[in-house]
Order: sequence, then C-alpha cells, then structure tokens
Amino acid sequence: MNAPEKTPAEMLATPVQFLKGVGPRWAGLLERLEIETLRDLLFFFPRDYERLAERREVAGLEEGTLQTVRGVVEEVDLRNTGAGKCVLGVLLRCGNDYLRGVWFNQPFMADRFAFGQTVVFSGKPKREGMFWAMSHPRVVPLGDGEEEPPSGILPIYPLTEGLKQWKMRRLVRQAIESHAGLLDEVFPPGFLEAHRLWPLGRALPQIHFPSDQESLNQARRRLVYQELFILQLALAVRRGRQQETRATPLEATARIDARIRRLFPFELTESQRRTIAEIASDMARPLPMNRLLQGDVGSGKTIVAVYAMLLAVAHQTQAALMAPTEILARQHWQTLQKLLAGSQVRMATLTGGMAAKERNDLLLRIAAGEVDLIVGTHAVLHEDVQFRNLGLVVIDEQHKFGVRQRATLRSAGPAPHYLVMTATPIPRTVTLALFGDLELSTLRDSPPGRQKVRTYLVTEADRQRWWDFFRGKLREGRQGYVVVPLVEESEQLAAASLATAYESLANGPLEAFRLGLVHGRMAPEEKDAVMADFRSGEIQVLVSTSVIEVGVDVPNATLMTIESGERFGLAQLHQLRGRISRGRYAGYCSVFADPQSDESQKRLEAFVGTTDGFRLAEVDFALRGPGELFGTRQHGLPPFRVADLLRDAEILEEARRDAQALIAADSELALPEHALLRRMVLARYGKAMDLSDVG
Ligand code: ADP
Ligand code: MG
Repeated sequence: MNAPEKTPAEMLATPVQFLKGVGPRWAGLLERLEIETLRDLLFFFPRDYERLAERREVAGLEEGTLQTVRGVVEEVDLRNTGAGKCVLGVLLRCGNDYLRGVWFNQPFMADRFAFGQTVVFSGKPKREGMFWAMSHPRVVPLGDGEEEPPSGILPIYPLTEGLKQWKMRRLVRQAIESHAGLLDEVFPPGFLEAHRLWPLGRALPQIHFPSDQESLNQARRRLVYQELFILQLALAVRRGRQQETRATPLEATARIDARIRRLFPFELTESQRRTIAEIASDMARPLPMNRLLQGDVGSGKTIVAVYAMLLAVAHQTQAALMAPTEILARQHWQTLQKLLAGSQVRMATLTGGMAAKERNDLLLRIAAGEVDLIVGTHAVLHEDVQFRNLGLVVIDEQHKFGVRQRATLRSAGPAPHYLVMTATPIPRTVTLALFGDLELSTLRDSPPGRQKVRTYLVTEADRQRWWDFFRGKLREGRQGYVVVPLVEESEQLAAASLATAYESLANGPLEAFRLGLVHGRMAPEEKDAVMADFRSGEIQVLVSTSVIEVGVDVPNATLMTIESGERFGLAQLHQLRGRISRGRYAGYCSVFADPQSDESQKRLEAFVGTTDGFRLAEVDFALRGPGELFGTRQHGLPPFRVADLLRDAEILEEARRDAQALIAADSELALPEHALLRRMVLARYGKAMDLSDVG
C-alpha cells in the first residue's frame, strides 16, 4: 500500500533535517535559530541586505566608480613591509582575466580567504600596469556554484557560530524553490487587489532574493502588513469580547461628584478635569472600562485615580489600587488615609510582607465585602485574594507590570473597570500596535506653580563644587537624594557597595547632615520607617537605589545626585528626576557619568537637554527602538518577525483600520473565507491573549 499523499501543511511541517544538504549537524545549528521546520526556514527573514555595486567583467571595468567583480581566489599573499606594517594581496581569477584585491595593515583579512573559493569584490577598480586592482573592496564569499544575483541585493541572515552566510542563503533558496508554491494565501479573495498587496507566493521569494529594490519594498510591505494585520485582528477580537462582558455601570451623579470633589485639597488642572470626565463617562457604561492614563511624572495622576476609586466605592463596589513597589503602595496608602480621614470608606493595604494571620483576616474581610478600598502591590494578584464585588482596578506605573496581569484579579459578579496609569509616555505607534484595545487619556499640563528642574551632566572635576551647592541648599531647609545604581551581580555585594557609598558620604561631603539609606531588599517595616523619617524631614538626604524611581512624592526634596548615570535608561533617569520636581522650590539634579558608548552619550545629553517626558520618550524610542523599549515580549506577546514599529507606522495604521473593518463584519472570524486568518490569529496570539475559544 502506498503512503497517503502529504498535505501542503504537512509538507511545510517537515523537520529541516530531512532537507537536501541539511542532516543532523546543520539541523542542530538551525535549531539554535529556532528553525525547526521547512516553514520556519521560509519565514526566517533576512536582518539586512548586502547591496553590491554594478557587476562587470574585468574587460569592462572603468576607473573611478564602484563596481563588482566575481572570481575564484587563486593566491593569498601577506607581506610585511617593515615597522609593523603589512600588505595583503588576494589574486582573483575572473575567467581569463585577473584582479587583485589589496589591503594595507589588515593582516586578519587573510584568514577570510581560502584557495579556490568563489567571492565577489565590490569597490573602485584601478588600473596598475597590466592588471586591475581594488583597494579595500567589500568581500562577499559565495557558495560553490552560487551566482550573485543580477540585482546585486543579497540577503544577510542572523547566524549562529558555525553557520556561514552562503550556506544559509543556499538552504533558504532551496526551500523556496521546492516549497514556496505550497504556501496558502491567507487573505480572502479580492483582499490583495483591494489593498494593493502582493500575493504571498510572490512576496516570499522576493524578501529573500529581491530582483530589485522596488520588489523588495513591495515584498516587505506585504509581509509587514500581514504581521501587523494578524496582531490587529487579535486585538480587535479581544476588544469585541470585552464589549460583550458586562460591568456594573458606575455613574458619577451630581451628588456623588460633589461629595468626591469636596475631599480634594486643591483645584484640579484642566487636564485632570478632562481626564476625570473621560473616565466617568466610561464607568457609567455597562461595559468594562479599559483605559490607559498617561501623564508625565508629577502631572497628578494619583488624584484622578482617587476620583475613580471613590466613584466605585460610592456605588458599593470595591476598588483596588496596585503599585509596583511596596514604597509606592505605602505612599498611596498614606495619601488616601489623609484624604479620606473622617469618611466612611473602609480601607486596607495588602502587600507581600504581611504576617499570615493578619493576611488571612484581611482576605476574609475582602471576600465578605467588608473592605471598600484595597491598596497593594502585586500581592493583590495572588490567587487566594477573592473580591466580593470588585468595581474598579487601578494599576499604577503600568510599565512595571505586564499588560496581561490586568486579567488576573478575581471577583464574584460582573467584570471590573480598569484604569492603567503610566508615566512613560508610549509613542503612538506602540499604543496602536500593542495596546490597540485600550482607550487613552493624557495629562498634558502639570499642576500650577511647578518649578523646573535644572539638570547638569558633570564630571569628577565638578564634584567639589556640586557638594558645596548641595550642602548650601540643605542648610536652607531642602532635602535631597543620592541615587546609586546596583551594579553587583549578587545581592550581598550590591548591598555592600551601597553601604560603602553611604559610609563615604556620611564620613565625607555630607558628614554634617542626617542621612538615611533605602533599598529594595530591606524589610517592609524598615523601608517604611526610613521613608517616614524622610517625609518628616528627620532624614535630610536619602541614599538609595533606583527603588525610589517610581512615584515617591516628597515635595521638599529638591536635590538629586545620580551616580554612574550611564547605567540608567532614559525613562528611568527621567523618573528619578521626577522625584525633585514636585513642590514650589526649584529642583537641581547632577548626573555623574562615564558614558561608554555613543548611544549612552546621546541618552545623557537628551536627559539634560529637556525635562519633557514625552520628548524623552521619543528620543528613547529612536535610540533604542521599540523592540527594547516596549518589547512585545515584555507584554507577553511573541516578537515581530519583519515589522518595525519605528519604520512601519503607516502600514500599521492601514492594517489596523482594515482589521477593525473586517472584525466589524465578522467579529469572531467565523466565515469560511476567514478560516486561515483565524488559524493564524490563534496560532500566534491565542494563548497570549486568551483567545483560545475563537470559533
Ligand atoms: P504622578 O502623576 O507622578 O503620579 P502625583 O499624583 O504624585 O503625580 O502628583 C504629584 C504632586 O502634585 C502631588 O504632591 C500632588 O498632591 C500634587 N498635585 C496633583 N494635582 C494637583 C493640582 N491640581 N494642584 C496642586 N497640586 C497637585
Ligand atoms: Mg504616581
């Protein structure tokens, strides 16, 4: 009996090991690049391209312009010319002619050539007597019998030790020739024409081996579009589902609104008023609110969150506020206690370091609905925390949490409303791409009377003068921070180095002042005590790690010394500085740094150049790229294969619009012509986005 014919899908799932020329050894190397099947190989995209100048025969070479020749290495000749200098000559035989590549003082280049190997040289040829020569040409080794493409555009793949570029090219080419025809078009009929997209069968070979730049552009556009479209479909499906979920409508009636505002100690800013209106209108609906509030450090997000929480409590539902650090949770707790002193609101705080008995009692009260407002850390997410009737969840400093975590609070009754807050402004492309299902509010202005912080990038030579200034301000009654990065691998070493830094300040420049020390690994009560002393002014200078980065609000603190500034990211530096721009006194921040790279130098210059967090976020985005900054992985999503949010903003907008239109017509991708799209959405995002029961 004959084995049954394999389906195209089965063929594409063939392990690469069974491809011609692969075998177990190569398969092992490919596996390191996460290439296991034929399909993986086809979708293993180049990270860049080699662009070779116009190809010529030796007889047709001209002096003065960039040209490419191809030949076989016939001789490699490395000669010392004295005084540590050398010349490398590589003779290429090109048919019946010869060309010599010449390198001065680069002896290591000799190792890149082997006798008999086919290579191309790309450079400016020069006639030397009877022969042609090129000095320091670009070199691209070709595989046996490999032709360089007429377009001169060669793919450059990510590699792993032991795998050569030409071998990778050969494997991919072979896979395309034998199997690209098996790939099914994922888009329904008519879609490609309507959106001016190339079919997959045309785009895939061209992204690997483009016949010209325009074809590469089109191929890339098609594949980027597909990748972003699938993600946008997933977000749209999830959003559609959320719209079917019920939430308790929590309307801000005039009476409730007045009762809440009476508690506030200051006039709200224009931005705060607008944001509160947006939130109140969301919460009045019987669907769960899903809103992201972004506002620079110190823009006054807390009070907006308090409004939303009190609105939930006014409707006899519970509200939970989650902060990423214990210090910040404590601070929110204290702010709320002060604000709500004398009110009926029953509050509790839930953090990791609680005693078992105390914690169990609290959990019972939360489950029984005897607590209205819970402030905590990620301890609130623990599975044994069960709410009676959770109306609202606020997540502060969202960039420290995964987006996924918002799904995991447990409550009886309807789904809660969600408010997520962040001080790291998220560029629009990222918001659209990764948070497409969130509404967005922005606090643009800061509370009145805010003083700017002056920031200085300083060197050791300025240290004396800076400490003089620092001490002067302390004597005037201000307070300050000294921030030291954690650089040691082990916690013990890190704690020791922080202690050393503390000692040298206490016995050095700050010896006349009252110092305190705080870091993430201290016991909660210890941290509390130190922060309380700092807040009361008992401690004048707080020496700390970046644990004070988020949210800490002590308006009298206006001085900050940042040590080893090159070790902090831009967002982090800006957050740190945010600690000293919170009151009516001007702030002063000095960054001591030893930038080791161009990027780190640019980062520091941007930091001292502006205090605008939105501007800094853009710089960071441009310097580091969205991958690192708002990595898909960080949000629990698989990484992009071709799309680049910095570059592909336009395609993203298009894909997003189109995906929303498609979902508006077929909310669960149930139509037969969408079956393949549905399968792709599930395969890629089903798990990460809890879409598993689609279809
Ligand atoms: P962030 O947005 O960084 O969380 P906070 O909510 O901590 O900022 O607010 C920073 C400081 O500004 C706090 O001391 C807060 O009391 C104060 N604040 C907030 N809104 C106003 C306002 N409208 N008028 C005056 N002070 C305000
Ligand atoms: Mg805050």
